[in-house]
Amino acid sequence: MDDRDRNKRLLDLLKLRENSECADCGCPEPDWASYKLGVFICLQCSGIHRNLPSITKVKSVRLDYWTDDLIQFMKDTGNQRATEIYEASVPPFYYRPRAKDCVVLKEQWVRAKYEREEFTSSRRSLDIYTTGHREGFLWKRGKDNGQFLKRMFILSEREGVVKYYTKQDSKVAKGIIPIKSLNAMFQEEKLGHVHGLEITYLKDGKTRSVFVYHENGMMFPDDFCVPLQEIVAWFNALRVARFNYLKALFPAAAESELIPKITRNYSKAGYMEKTGPTQREAFKKRWFNLDSQERKLLYYKDPLDAFEQGGVFVGSKERGYQVLAGLPKGITRNRWKDGITIETPERKYVFTCENTKDQSEWLEALRELISRPMTTEDFNAEADSFRKMRPK
Ligand SMILES: [Zn+2]
Repeated sequence: MDDRDRNKRLLDLLKLRENSECADCGCPEPDWASYKLGVFICLQCSGIHRNLPSITKVKSVRLDYWTDDLIQFMKDTGNQRATEIYEASVPPFYYRPRAKDCVVLKEQWVRAKYEREEFTSSRRSLDIYTTGHREGFLWKRGKDNGQFLKRMFILSEREGVVKYYTKQDSKVAKGIIPIKSLNAMFQEEKLGHVHGLEITYLKDGKTRSVFVYHENGMMFPDDFCVPLQEIVAWFNALRVARFNYLKALFPAAAESELIPKITRNYSKAGYMEKTGPTQREAFKKRWFNLDSQERKLLYYKDPLDAFEQGGVFVGSKERGYQVLAGLPKGITRNRWKDGITIETPERKYVFTCENTKDQSEWLEALRELISRPMTTEDFNAEADSFRKMRPK
C-alpha cells in the first residue's frame, strides 16, 4: 500500500462523527492524532501533547508516515472510546475547556485526563477540590493604582466567601467576595499574563472585578507525583464552592441545569464607541463586556477597571427588545462607522464598532441573547435597571 493510501485510511476515520472534533477541546476538524492514546486532536492540543512525551506522542494525520499497526490502533480507539475511558467520571464542577479557552486551561485538562488520570472510573476525585477550603498567595491588581501586589487569599466554603488580606497575619480582610454572586474566568490577554483570572461579584448593585494571577506556580496534590497548576486549582476550587452553593439553593435542580451557572465567560468583549442618552453627545471609546447569563452589557473606561461605568439590560424579543445593524438617522458618529442600535422598551442605545467583522460578532452575540426568553429573575433585574435610569 502506498503512503497516500495509508493517510487516506486515517482521513476516512476523521470523517466519522465521533472524530469530527478535537478530543480535548472540541475544535472542529482535527488533523493531528496521539498514536499512544488513540485520539484525534487539533493543532494547538497537539502542541500540548508534544510536551508530555512520557504519556502521549503525536503525528500529523495528513503529513506523517503511519504504519498499519498504528492505523489499526487509531481505528480501534478513536475519540469516543477514549472519552469513555479518560472522561468516565469528570466531576460536574470541573471546567472542560473549549477551543476558544486559554492554553493553561487546556494544558491542565490534558494533564488531568491522561497524565494524572483524574477522571478514569477507578480514580477517586482529588481532595484539593473537595475540602471546601483553600488558601495561598495571588498577585492582585490594585483597584486605584493598577499595581499588582501579593495578597493572601482564603476560600471558605463554610462561610460562603473568599477573603483576601494585605498580609498573611492581617486580622481584618481587605476584601470579601461572596460565593453567592462570584464568577471567575481566565483573562490571559486582558491581564497580559497566561495565569490571569478575572473574579467578579456584585457590590452595591454594581459588578466588582478583581484581577489576579499566580506566578506560574505548581503544586503537588496528595498521592500525585504530577504537578498541578496553582491557578487552575484555584479556578476549580472556586467552581466547587459555587457548585455546592447552587446545589443547596436549588436542591431539586438537575446537575446539567446547574453546571452552566457555576461560572461563565463573557459571550463577547471588546471596544466599541458609545454616545450618551440624547445621542448628541460625542462618541467615546469604551470597553464592553457582554454577560449573557445576567443579560448585561457593561462598559468601562479601561478594560481593567474595578467597576463598570454603566450598562444596558438586554431583554428578549418578546419583551420588545431589538438589535439592529446601523445607526438611527441624523446621528453624528466618530471615526468608527459600523453601527449597532439596541432598542429597549425605555430608550435606544447606539454603538459603533471598529470594523464590520467586529460589528457582526457583536450583532450575533446580542441577537442570540434577545432570542432567549426572560426568566422571573430577569424581569426583576430589568425593573431594577429601569429604576436606576430614571431621574430621581
Ligand atoms: Zn484541541
